[in-house]
Amino acid sequence: LNRRLAEFGTTIFAEMSALALSTGAINLGQGFPDTDGPEEVREAAVRALRDGRGNQYPPGPGIPELRTAVAAHQQRRYSLSFDPDTEVLVTAGATEAIAAALLALLEPGDEVIAFEPYYDSYAACIAMAGGRRVPVTLRADEGAGRFRLDLDELRDAVTDRTRLLLINTPHNPTGTVLTRAELAAIAELAVERDLLVVTDEVYEHLVFDDAEHVPLATFPGMRERTVTIGSAGKTYSFTGWKVGWVTASPELVTAVRSAKQYLTYVSAGPFQYAVAEALALPESYFTAFRDDMLAKRDLLSAGLEEAGFRVFRPSGTYFVTTDIRPLGETDGFTFCRALPERAGVVAIPNAVFYDHREEGAPFVRFAFCKRTEVLQEAAKRLGAAFQ
Ligand code: PMP
Ligand code: GLN
Repeated sequence: LNRRLAEFGTTIFAEMSALALSTGAINLGQGFPDTDGPEEVREAAVRALRDGRGNQYPPGPGIPELRTAVAAHQQRRYSLSFDPDTEVLVTAGATEAIAAALLALLEPGDEVIAFEPYYDSYAACIAMAGGRRVPVTLRADEGAGRFRLDLDELRDAVTDRTRLLLINTPHNPTGTVLTRAELAAIAELAVERDLLVVTDEVYEHLVFDDAEHVPLATFPGMRERTVTIGSAGKTYSFTGWKVGWVTASPELVTAVRSAKQYLTYVSAGPFQYAVAEALALPESYFTAFRDDMLAKRDLLSAGLEEAGFRVFRPSGTYFVTTDIRPLGETDGFTFCRALPERAGVVAIPNAVFYDHREEGAPFVRFAFCKRTEVLQEAAKRLGAAFQ
C-alpha cells in the first residue's frame, strides 16, 4: 500500500459489519436499511434487465432518462435548473462522485476544508488526489443538543492554498442540518475567497422537525462553483445498486466526467432505468420515507436515553450520535469493540471520522434505518446491559 493510503487501512464499516456477523449482534453500525426500497422500482430494474435495456455499456454520462429525471427533481424541489445533457452526470454511487470530483478538481498540495467528523471516504479521496485535508471541527453543543459549526473557525481555516470546501448536509455522523444562515455564510466565504464547493447532499430527503434542507447551489454566486452530489442508495434504500449523481455547471461536470471515465467508465445500466422511474415517484414517497425514519429516530433515541447515553437527536440522516460519558465510559473504540459481547449490538466509534481523535473519543454512532422490531430489540438489549 502506498504512502498516500497507508493510514487508511480497512474501513470501520467493514470491520464492524464483520464483527456483527461473527457475533450475531444487531448491526446498527454500517448505514444501510434492512428493508429494500419500493417494489415498483425493483420491478422497473427487472423489466430493464429482461428487456435488454442497459445490459451493455450505457452512455458515459448516464442514460438520458436518468439525467432528465435528476434535472427534473432539482427543478421541482429546489427550483434549480440543470441541463440534463451538460450539467448532470450519473456516477457509481455518491462515493464515486466524491472521488471523481476530488481527483478532477485538486492539484497536488491543494488544501481541502472538510468538517470533522467527516464521512470516511473524504479523507481517503483527498489523499488519493494528492490534496491536504484541513478539518474544521463540529463541536457538541449540549444545550442545543446538536453539533455546531463555528463559522469563525471555518473562515480562519481558509488560506491561499485552499482550493475547495467539502460540505456535507445533512451531516453524517452527527445528524446536523446546516441552517439557511450557516449556508449563506459558507456561500459568502466561497465567493469571497473564490473557492470551489463539493457538497454531499445524499441525505437531502431525511430532515426532521423544523430543519430544512437547502442546497448550497441555490445561494448567490454558488451555482457556477458548486458540485452537488445525490444518491439513489440513500434516497430509495437501494445501497447495493450504487447509483449516484452530480449536478453542476458544464465546466465542472466535464471535469468530474474526465475522472469518472477512467474510474468506472460507466455505471450499471439497468439500475439507471429503475432509478429514473424512482425519481418520478410522487412527493408522498419522500414524505412517507421521512416519517418512517422520524419514528425510528425517536424510538432508538428514547431507548438510548433510557439506557443512559447522552443523545444528540439528529435533525437529519439516519444516524444518531451519542456521548458515552454518562455511562462512565470515555473511549468509543474500546466501547464499540466490547459492545457486541456486552449488549449484542454493533455501533461505530465516531473517532474514526476525526483527525483530532481525542475530540471524537466519547462519541458513538448508531444507525436507525432498521425495522421497528429490530430497533426495539436493540433498545431492550442496551437497556439491560447498562442498568
Ligand atoms: N456520503 C455520505 C455522507 C454517506 O453517508 C454515504 C454513505 N452511503 C455516501 C456518501 C456514499 O453513498 P453511496 O452509497 O451512494 O456511494
Ligand atoms: N454511508 C454509510 C455509513 O456511513 C455506509 C458507508 C460504507 O459502507 N462505506 O454507514
